[in-house]
Amino acid sequence: MKIVITGGAGFIGSHLVDHYLESDYEIVVIDNLLTGSEKNLEHNLSNKNFEFIIADVCNVTQISSAFDILMHFACPASPFDFLEYPLETMKVMSVGTYNMLEIARNHQAKFILASTSEVYGDPLIHPQTEDYTGNVNMLSPRAVYDESKRFAETLVMTFNRKYKLKTGIVRIFNTYGERMRGHDGRVVPTLISEAIKAQPLPIFGDGTQTRSFCYISDMIEGIDRAMRIDYSLPINLGNPEEHTVLELAQLIKKLCKSNSPMKFMPLPDSDPKQRKPDISKAKELLDWSPQVQLEQGLIQIIKWFREKKE
Ligand code: NAD
Repeated sequence: MKIVITGGAGFIGSHLVDHYLESDYEIVVIDNLLTGSEKNLEHNLSNKNFEFIIADVCNVTQISSAFDILMHFACPASPFDFLEYPLETMKVMSVGTYNMLEIARNHQAKFILASTSEVYGDPLIHPQTEDYTGNVNMLSPRAVYDESKRFAETLVMTFNRKYKLKTGIVRIFNTYGERMRGHDGRVVPTLISEAIKAQPLPIFGDGTQTRSFCYISDMIEGIDRAMRIDYSLPINLGNPEEHTVLELAQLIKKLCKSNSPMKFMPLPDSDPKQRKPDISKAKELLDWSPQVQLEQGLIQIIKWFREKKE
């Protein structure tokens, strides 16, 4: 089986690449290295089953060799990144998604979209089920990401209905693990890199906002299972165990044996107050639920951060 993974030089994409190469699949990565890094793939560069194309998916309109599945993961994903690259974010989810869907259609390949919990915006129902249509302020700066992902989902569903293309949509909730960048604006790597350096831990608001954190190995397993079933509507993937940001900071401080103080800062615009997936559908359709406890996963990523000395 041959799989094309866009965004394969990024955090989640590069773990997908490892996962499928370990199973002897052929992998083609298309990535323009906007927020990813070749370093995430360097251990695979000499693998005969691996090909790396450095390109912007917005400019790619064909792939010559046959393949079976296209997993579209290219997109700036951290708040720092999508606010720094607002137009690139909107373009990759609109033009880029359209191009990748057309290519999948030409090859009669299955298409999987990496969507996000951000499609729910600042949710008014809790936990979020897939049929909740969200509460997004389309005029806020964050909307470049949220609305683009919503549009991408609509494009995917339209190709599914109009052309009977086999498609799947995974709505990914906060995921953490090795290969995240220390200062990409996501809460887990930010807190760890500051705690390791004994610097103040930035907490937005009073830290009572909740998040759920899924370890990367659980997420890869969930995405893989979703790729294998014939189901086109979105599936939530994430860890339903909820923690306040303050609890997370305290746990990271303990595990890093750090004496960093907390530094409270104003809440950013449209920062969601709660986020927790309802994963009943993933349980039922994929027989999937996260296995890695928060403390266990944090120990792994802290070890990785210390070894790479970021
Ligand atoms: P990441 O920034 O580490 O990876 C994204 C990759 O896409 C990078 O390698 C980047 O260079 C590449 N890219 C961006 N624009 C591109 C373009 N126009 N052409 C080609 N490549 C391009 O982010 P990630 O955390 O690995 O996220 C991967 C996907 O999962 C994204 O689509 C993101 O929206 C989604 N997602 C991630 C999370 C999470 O917690 N990490 C949560 C929800 C959704």
